[in-house]
Amino acid sequence: ALTAGIVGLPNVGKSTLFNAITQAGAESANYPFCTIDPNVGIVEVPDYRLTKLTELVQPKKTVPTTFEFTDIAGIVKGASKGEGLGNKFLANIREVDAICQVVRCFVDENITHVSGKVDPLDDIETINLELILADLESVEKRIGRVGKMAKQKDKEAMAELEVLELLKAAFEAEKPARTVEFTEEQLKIVKGLHLLTIKPVLYVANVGEDDVADPSSNEYVQKVREFAAGDNAEVIVICAKIESEIAELEGEEKAMFLQELGIEESGLDQLIRAAYHLLGLATYFTAGVQEVRAWTFRKGMKAPQCAGIIHSDFERGFIRAETVSYDDLLAAGNMTAAKEAGKVRLEGKDYEVKDGDIIHFRFNV
Ligand code: GDP
Repeated sequence: ALTAGIVGLPNVGKSTLFNAITQAGAESANYPFCTIDPNVGIVEVPDYRLTKLTELVQPKKTVPTTFEFTDIAGIVKGASKGEGLGNKFLANIREVDAICQVVRCFVDENITHVSGKVDPLDDIETINLELILADLESVEKRIGRVGKMAKQKDKEAMAELEVLELLKAAFEAEKPARTVEFTEEQLKIVKGLHLLTIKPVLYVANVGEDDVADPSSNEYVQKVREFAAGDNAEVIVICAKIESEIAELEGEEKAMFLQELGIEESGLDQLIRAAYHLLGLATYFTAGVQEVRAWTFRKGMKAPQCAGIIHSDFERGFIRAETVSYDDLLAAGNMTAAKEAGKVRLEGKDYEVKDGDIIHFRFNV
C-alpha cells in the first residue's frame, strides 16, 4: 500500500500528531491481516458517500477504506552528510510515497525550539536542504557514469544526461526536483532516479489551540502558504494537541466537539483526504446487502485491475463491471431505479474506473 511519511524537526508536534493518528486508528477487527508496525498508523479514509450508501442499501456491515501514515523519526540536520541516524532518516523517506512535513506554527515558551525561535520557513528549508543535498549527491554520481556513455553518442545516455544536468542546476539553486518542469519523456527518466525531492509534499502547519477556528490570523501559517505555493506543495492547518483529543471521540460526540471549536472537519480528516489525493488515490465502492465497502485504487486503473484489488480471481476471470456513478445512484434512489433509468452501465476490460463508481464485478471462476 502507498504510504505518506510524517517528518519534521524535533518539538514541532510530530509525535503528538502521530499519536492522534494511531488513536483514531482503523478498527483492527476489519483489517486482521495488517501487520503491526509501531511506526505505521492505519486510518480510515473519511467519506460521506459511504455513509449515504449505507443509508441507501442498509447492509449488515460497512467497511471504509484505509490509508497508512509512517512516522519517520531520526536526525534531520546533517542527514545528507551520512551520519548514522541521518542516513536512516533518508532511507526511511526513500521508502514512503509522499511526505507530510510538520512545521511548528504555535508559540509556547515552555517548549523549546531547536533553532531558538519559531520560524516555520527556516524549519522547512532545513529539512528540504538535507533532501536536496542527498539528491544532488545521487545525481552527481549518476552524471559521472552516464556522462561517459553520452560522450559516445549513446542516445539514451544523452537524454538522461540532459535531465541530470537540469536537476543538478535546480539542486544547486536549492530547488527540489518537484519544482522542475519536465516533458513526459523526461519525467519517465526522473522517476527511475528515485529522488527524494520528487515526492509530493504536504506541509502540516501545527497551530496553537487559539488559532484553530481562524488560522488565517496566524502569521506563520500565511508564510507557509506563500512558500508552499512556489514549492508545488499543499498546506493543511491542524492543532496536533486538539487532534489527539478529537481522535478519542466518535460520531455525535465528535461532531459536537468540532462545532464547539468552530470547525467543520477535524484537521486529521483533512490531512487524510489531502494525503490520499496527493498520492493520486481514489475510491470505488461495492454495495451489497451483506456489505457496503470502499476500495482504494490508483487513478487511471482499468476495471480488471480494480477488481484485482478485491481478489486476484476477480481480475483473472474478469468479464464485466456493472457500474453506476455515485451521483446517478443517489439521484435514482436505489439500484433498481438506476437500472430502469439506464444509468447502470456494463463496462469492459478497457474501462477506466472513476472516483465514486459503484461496481458489481462479474467474473468466471
Ligand atoms: P516532536 O518532537 O515533533 O515529536 O514533538 P512533540 O509531538 O513531542 O511535541 C513537542 C511538544 O510540543 C510537546 O510538549 C507537545 O505537547 C507540544 N505541542 C504539540 N503540538 C502543540 C500545539 O498545537 N500547541 C501547544 N501549545 N503545544 C503543542
